[in-house]
Amino acid sequence: MTERPTRVRADYEAVVVGSGFAGIAMAIALKRQGIHDFVVLEKGDDLGGTWRDNTYPGCACDVPSHLYSYSFELKADWSRAYASAPEILDYVRHCCTKYGLDPHLRFGYRLDVARYEEESGLWRLTVRTPTGIVQARCRTLVMAVGALHEPARPDIAGLDDFGGPVVHTAAWDHSVTLQGKRVGVIGTGASAIQVVPQVAPATGRLTVFQRTPPWVLPKEDPEYSPAAQRRFARWPWLAWLKRAAIYWTNEARVVGFARHPRAMKVAERMARRHLHAQVADPDLRERLTPDYTIGCKRILVSSDYYPALQRDNVHLETAGIDHVENGAVVTTDGRRHELDVLVLATGFDVIGTYQHLEVVGRDGRNLGHEWAKAPEAYLGTTVEGFPNLFTLVGPNTGLGHTSMLIMIEAQAELVLRAMRERDRRQARAVEVEAAAQEAFNDELQRRSASAVWLTGCRSWYLDDSGVNRALWPWSTVAYRRRTARFQPGHYRFHA
Ligand code: NAP
Repeated sequence: MTERPTRVRADYEAVVVGSGFAGIAMAIALKRQGIHDFVVLEKGDDLGGTWRDNTYPGCACDVPSHLYSYSFELKADWSRAYASAPEILDYVRHCCTKYGLDPHLRFGYRLDVARYEEESGLWRLTVRTPTGIVQARCRTLVMAVGALHEPARPDIAGLDDFGGPVVHTAAWDHSVTLQGKRVGVIGTGASAIQVVPQVAPATGRLTVFQRTPPWVLPKEDPEYSPAAQRRFARWPWLAWLKRAAIYWTNEARVVGFARHPRAMKVAERMARRHLHAQVADPDLRERLTPDYTIGCKRILVSSDYYPALQRDNVHLETAGIDHVENGAVVTTDGRRHELDVLVLATGFDVIGTYQHLEVVGRDGRNLGHEWAKAPEAYLGTTVEGFPNLFTLVGPNTGLGHTSMLIMIEAQAELVLRAMRERDRRQARAVEVEAAAQEAFNDELQRRSASAVWLTGCRSWYLDDSGVNRALWPWSTVAYRRRTARFQPGHYRFHA
């Protein structure tokens, strides 16, 4: 009889890194499973992830809140259809308290290094804390660090020479006043179209530097009356019905996004109608009309962006940016746009997230280095070479058509299934098979070939070679189906 090696005791059964929606969902799932021996490391001083970090004026979610919330924790009293960032943050805090997570949270704890120990099957973590560096070992490491996390600083010559305040939307500096100032906003993505209408009235002059026009749909954003909120509270099935209606309406759109981009024509007509209805000047309309298929980049929703651009103190600049110099942005046609404050609404460094971390798996393999070349995982959740490691909101789990929380909940359940199977087999570790990961990614890339994201536009969905690294090219129903049953044959169990 072969003797099992003595197990090295872990300090924690599980460590979750990050306390955004994904980390909190994972923590709740662990508790529900009866696992209480875990901590959630959070480098910030509060929870909430992107909803804590993004405090720019106008920050809100562009997915209706009845769907952008956990399925197991419906909220009856959303104030409006699309909740603002502070209301969403309150909701996350509420979940944290209700599910007893507070004792598990460690604020100001930044994971520096995670190293897999083959002998024990444990992860050894080096964590920077407010009182110094600590080390701990855990069996299961769940990375819930998010994808839209590291603000992307554009590669524009002379940006460091601007001289005045340069503020990124994802790290808003509230001490910088815009009142009466000449402000430039670089970018016209989801963050820009929210911030521009909010700050425009206060500025002396606002110049929006557009490189690529976005497709914009109207935003129906009614407030929920107290009576409606009471109805949702009294009859929770009404909130369910609301959620289901939004879910299935969104879900139907995946056909156009992932399978038949031509079906996107319907959405394009709506966006064109919206542009015509809100912008009378044909020249401005022309400059605001995208030349790529709708959905290739994220479709934006706003009913106040186009009106804001037509204010007397707002100017849309469509000449490219050549460089930045002291107090000005200079466009490629040689014009100098004098500015006091520069706002970077230039998105996130999606690929870079893991490069700031040292996650070292089997045989010294470094996840950040490998993902810098090609971020790949199995179902976005497990990575060959990294036993007992799980990544939430990992590669190719992003969505362009509906709520990320659907994916997050399914992923958290998948992690539990993997842990259960590992423990049932009394294995040290569980790791996805290389063949399963490869076959899955081949299938995923074949499927992506027919998706709208590859119809010829630049976006954070694609890497430098134009490969889809961010989005899930099927429905969320398909994701839930694939993750609902744990397939032991796709994994290795280390004895
Ligand atoms: P983004 O969609 O990546 O947009 C960045 C913008 O900056 C684009 O217009 C881009 O132009 C421009 N840009 C980047 N580098 C530039 C350069 N060197 N010169 C000129 N322009 C440059 O970023 P985001 O708006 O922050 O949104 C990112 C994602 O965050 C969204 O897709 C969404 O998933 C999420 N988000 C969601 C919400 C929400 O309501 N739920 C709100 C905000 C953000 P090009 O288009 O030409 O590249």
